[in-house]
Amino acid sequence: VTRIGGHDVVVVGCGIAGMSAAVAAAQSGARVVVIERAPREERGGNTRYTSAFMLMKSESEVSDTMVPRLLECAGGALDPTLMDLAGRPSAEWPAVLRALSFADPETIATLASEAGATIAWLSSFGVRFDLVPPPHQVGAGYLAPRGGGLALIDALAADAEARGVDFLYDTTAMRLLEDEHGGVAGVHCRGRAGESCVVEGGAVVLGSGGFQGNPEMLTRYLGARAIFMRPYAPGGYYDRGEGIEMALAIGAAPAGEYASYHAQAVDPRSRLVGENAMYGITYGIVVDQTGRRFVDEAGGNPDLLPQSATRTVRVRLEALARSIPHQPGGLAYLILDAKAAALPNRGHIFNTDQPPFEAGTIAGLAALLAIPASPLERTVADFNAACVGGAFDPLRPDGLATAGLDVPKSHWARPLDAPLYQAYPIAAANVFTFGGLRTDRLARVIRTSGEPIAGLYAAGELAGLYYKDYTGATSVLRGAVFGRIAGADAAKVARARDAVAAR
Ligand SMILES: Cc1cc2nc3c(=O)[nH]c(=O)nc-3n(C[C@H](O)[C@H](O)[C@H](O)COP(=O)(O)OP(=O)(O)OC[C@H]3O[C@@H](n4cnc5c(N)ncnc54)[C@H](O)[C@@H]3O)c2cc1C
Repeated sequence: VTRIGGHDVVVVGCGIAGMSAAVAAAQSGARVVVIERAPREERGGNTRYTSAFMLMKSESEVSDTMVPRLLECAGGALDPTLMDLAGRPSAEWPAVLRALSFADPETIATLASEAGATIAWLSSFGVRFDLVPPPHQVGAGYLAPRGGGLALIDALAADAEARGVDFLYDTTAMRLLEDEHGGVAGVHCRGRAGESCVVEGGAVVLGSGGFQGNPEMLTRYLGARAIFMRPYAPGGYYDRGEGIEMALAIGAAPAGEYASYHAQAVDPRSRLVGENAMYGITYGIVVDQTGRRFVDEAGGNPDLLPQSATRTVRVRLEALARSIPHQPGGLAYLILDAKAAALPNRGHIFNTDQPPFEAGTIAGLAALLAIPASPLERTVADFNAACVGGAFDPLRPDGLATAGLDVPKSHWARPLDAPLYQAYPIAAANVFTFGGLRTDRLARVIRTSGEPIAGLYAAGELAGLYYKDYTGATSVLRGAVFGRIAGADAAKVARARDAVAAR
């Protein structure tokens, strides 16, 4: 086995989390090595393909909705006695709370308070940010780096290279190397041909993403229907969950909702790379292959979700997309009529390079889709009869709901009565999985005992933060914030551990 030494900090993964950690550690004076499964030209996982929208109202402040939304989706059935204690400083938390699977208030507060400084830090590498309108045309806008996630990766990697950070491409981290005290001392890796090596270091930062690229883990945690949840972008195939498994294997506590994921509705025929979402799905009706509606296309419960319009729409899209894999064949169809041509921003709300199926009648459309005509005709007739009329407003949840349907539509319900009728096939894409590792506000990985694992950090997708509904436009940001924190703390800890080892 080849042993590679001489580094203080070992970083796994070249996405936003790993690159932020590598640069921050190098800035703190650490000798850093980055292990990356992909070849150099494909490095960067999901980050490479994202527009990297960030839920911020300026370069210095997160949007007002961020903290309330994250807190609202901080876990599943949370024990109120533990939540009472979670309001105190973490130093006073009992072990069970430190290791609990939930998004703790200190971590959420750190994300919000460090976001501005992190944007300023990213800007110092030449990245420029703009405030942009929301991609789905309803709600507040976002902050976004010019050039998207790829610009972040390129800028950070160039800085890391200039600082002498070593990169081992085509190398997959498989297992953690432990020292005799149960701390982490490096990573066992494999090259393309299966050759093994051990990369040693005083601290390891895991930034290797979720498990959306691993069909075995997807089936284990999300069930048999996971075969219908393909990664949203090519970078997702590189994220195969080893970082999560290797940490769990040495006693890390799990966090994040293992059986869930951030979903987008896509046209499965589309060959667009990157942003593929069919945001406009909320304006039509969605039927399964038997011609029946199965979901409120504009659902969610706005009364229970008092936040902004963005939140209610996000929630609808997520729930809608997640319901599709559970239909026959894991597929559904979006049905629109000629009125859809007048929707604003049409080119950005139907992100596909494939034309819709078009027919002058619903029966003709059914024939093109190879679904039975009479159930589809009945579905459309029932839906049309349930549309009560009123003012349609595509730019906000307009309350234009159906009346009397078992499966209602809560907003934007207009009869489908204007030929040409159109249909797009719709599938769910898995942007990233929610299950990961319990980390604290310093991005340290926490053991099931509640103590940090000495020398082990995690940031980005594999740090479990999300439950129920994803708080949109926070994943790149949290990767940068906690990757940067992890890198700086890992540099400090690695030096201290080296000094102890030298004595
Ligand atoms: C098309 C698209 C649009 C998105 N839009 C947004 C958005 O607007 N805003 C937002 O906040 N989020 C968005 N997301 C989500 C966001 O991009 C990701 O969650 C985030 O970038 C993940 O960063 P990461 O560093 O954790 O992982 P990644 O960027 O996936 O990086 C992980 C890296 O680790 C490497 N790796 C994996 N396993 C190993 C291993 N065992 N050994 C070595 N290397 C390994 C991978 O090759 C990869 O380079 C989007 C995602 C996609 C795909």
